[in-house]
Amino acid sequence: QAKNSGRDVIRFFDPDMQAAIEARVAMEEELRAALENGQLRLYYQVQVDNSRHAQSAEALLRWAHPRRGLIPPMQFIPLAEETGLILPIGHWVLDTACAQLAKWQADPAARHLTLAVNVSAKQFRQEDFVQQVTAAVERHGINPLLLKLELTESTVLENTDDAITKMSALKEYGVKLSLDDFGTGYSSLSHLKRLPLDQIKIDQSFVRDVTTDNGDAVMVMTMVDLGMNFEVEVIAEGVETEEQFKALQRYGCASLQGYLFSKPVPIEQFEALLHQGKRRQL
Ligand code: C2E
Ligand code: MG
Ligand code: MG
Ligand code: MG
Repeated sequence: QAKNSGRDVIRFFDPDMQAAIEARVAMEEELRAALENGQLRLYYQVQVDNSRHAQSAEALLRWAHPRRGLIPPMQFIPLAEETGLILPIGHWVLDTACAQLAKWQADPAARHLTLAVNVSAKQFRQEDFVQQVTAAVERHGINPLLLKLELTESTVLENTDDAITKMSALKEYGVKLSLDDFGTGYSSLSHLKRLPLDQIKIDQSFVRDVTTDNGDAVMVMTMVDLGMNFEVEVIAEGVETEEQFKALQRYGCASLQGYLFSKPVPIEQFEALLHQGKRRQL
């Protein structure tokens, strides 16, 4: 667009880019307002053991936009990260999850569940992150063992020493730690032995073709073995078919999550699923 030809003035104005910038600024304002106006929602997706009984759930963020409907996290979390809005949003997520865990203690069908919360890199990097977590747990008077934090490889490997210090403090306190999207980062193996993890989550990209792609099957088996040898629980995400489930079961995967069991759903639907799944498998 901007051409430096002859005596022409270099023009940076690009209507498309201008529109994109304006849309971004508008969305930032809207997201800020969304947080204040209670438009953020947590959806809950069940995690089952290998006999298909509910053992835990993952809290997944949604934005209930008044005009645009339900917006998935990948469409606003990157912006939230860039603008720092992820910090108050992350605070809200943690607080809402702990409040939910507190409510579940009165429900015999739910009181055994652990609840996993996704933590963004920026949130985790905060100096007082550990205190934020312990404060949320104490505010709602829950058992810290019921709360699980999902961190990605890149979050943890960014500043490994600082990450290990925080993770050790959290583990000492009792909170569970899971490594999300496992296998998609790199150089993870050499660091894995130093990380105080309770769980690794096999990324859905390995699960997708686990029944048809021998390479993916080998990756899954290797990750399950790794988990066993490190005495870390292994969960597979993105399980969509019976065939994938059977293969993962055969490979010794202890926990599973995916559309086969349930999509992420609002709390009322999640609790209905729990009560219905109480006596039978999901
Ligand atoms: P993630 O933590 O790896 O979550 C798994 C994603 O896979 C979720 O997408 C979930 O809905 C989806 N999923 C679950 N089962 C299946 C399946 O069987 N098939 C397929 N194709 N997908 C499945 P979602 O909810 O759109 O979340 C996307 C990502 O956004 C999450 O990936 C996580 O990184 C991030 N995220 C979600 N909630 C939060 C949050 O509260 N805070 C932060 N910082 N990030 C969040
Ligand atoms: Mg996750
Ligand atoms: Mg994941
Ligand atoms: Mg993922």
